Amino acid sequence: MPLALSPSTVPVTVDDAKCIADKGCTVCVDVCPLDVLRISELTGKAYMKFDECWYCMPCETDCPTGAVTVNIPYLLR
Ligand code: SF4
Ligand code: SF4
Repeated sequence: MPLALSPSTVPVTVDDAKCIADKGCTVCVDVCPLDVLRISELTGKAYMKFDECWYCMPCETDCPTGAVTVNIPYLLR
């Protein structure tokens, strides 16, 4: 699947200020059935590595701090 080139234009964005991956959280990475989320070694925060998404939502609903936003395309709503 295509690598996500720009983290700001992918379907799923993570608020670094809220993400507690640097404290050991990996919930969003673990629940994603497509395995497209990762924890960045650079920032210690979660991010979307692959630009692919089923818009199934557990990453957003299960994130303990509300850091994940799934931007559902208009046509899918
Ligand atoms: S579930 Fe939320 S807090 Fe945990 S790693 Fe993912 S974005 Fe960060
Ligand atoms: S909405 Fe589903 S497929 Fe998309 S990143 Fe979240 S868990 Fe993965």
